Amino acid sequence: MSQTGAVSRPVSDLGRDDQVLPFAVEPLDVRGRIVRLGPALDRILGRHAYPDAIARVVGEAIVLTVLLASALKLEGRFQLQTRTDGILDMLIVDFDAPDSIRAVARFDKARLVAGQSAHAVRGALFGRGHLALTIDQGGDMSRYQGIVALEGQTLEEAAHQYFRQSEQIPTLVRLAVAESLKGTSSSWRAGGLLVQFLPNSPERQRQADFDPGDAPEGLIVENFVEDDAWSEAKLLSASVEDHELVDPTLSSERLLYRLFHEHGVKVFTPSAVQDRCRCSAERIEAMLRSFSPQEQRDMIGDNGLIGVTCEFCSVHREFDPTLLDADRPKDGADSRRS
Ligand SMILES: [Zn+2]
Repeated sequence: MSQTGAVSRPVSDLGRDDQVLPFAVEPLDVRGRIVRLGPALDRILGRHAYPDAIARVVGEAIVLTVLLASALKLEGRFQLQTRTDGILDMLIVDFDAPDSIRAVARFDKARLVAGQSAHAVRGALFGRGHLALTIDQGGDMSRYQGIVALEGQTLEEAAHQYFRQSEQIPTLVRLAVAESLKGTSSSWRAGGLLVQFLPNSPERQRQADFDPGDAPEGLIVENFVEDDAWSEAKLLSASVEDHELVDPTLSSERLLYRLFHEHGVKVFTPSAVQDRCRCSAERIEAMLRSFSPQEQRDMIGDNGLIGVTCEFCSVHREFDPTLLDADRPKDGADSRRS
């Protein structure tokens, strides 16, 4: 792989799963990230045992989240959430920097026709609603939320809309999810590519379809000529096939080389992605303590304990209600919560 101003070395064919590889194609003024997910994705989707059509969309949402969130600083949090009137009424993917991902989906089983292909049911999954992307950089930095209306488009299309409307950065996103079958077992894999046009001169970033803001309608579109470098980068990036993105034998470096070798690709230090939930016994205990004694009593199961299952990672924990009361004031009156 050609590395401008750096040591050039041969392209690595070592395919690594659950990893994000940042890259730059300097002659085209583009930067991007490629993600390949294997075991982490398979564990998340396998744990929930979603029907095929749901698993594919959750897989796409996870890839998109990793692509968008892996640029976060340490400590930051990123959340992708959809709320719609479709079959998949709610989908949440959380990324906790630097590497933890978790996901959950809620859907209407009755509306999912058994045996219907993922492709056929696709448009009905989201229906109408919205996609919200929330970035919380942690510490004193502010929280940012971008919203895109969902009206039957794919997540890939919704991501493009988000970058046009909210970020105003020319961006191309590709997402692919596949279930690979070996004998009687199967496993989920996914891949994604994000490419952004980031020239030094902001003038060159202008896009015909950007939200015009306060400018009179039609002004920006008029006489608009897309930058040649971005046209070329988009063409090359869009040529990536789904099967290439999910191919475990095709390394991310080899794939980038395939797409951009004419211009030279620079790769940076990769980062890992893990299937890890942020829930903990301490957090759930704190949540339980916030309920009134009566509410707590209502949660007690047949075994005398309060059982809580995390909807993200499915870990089941049991709490002794008498211990929850331990630091409650003993004389009844003060223990009531407003
Ligand atoms: Zn959990």
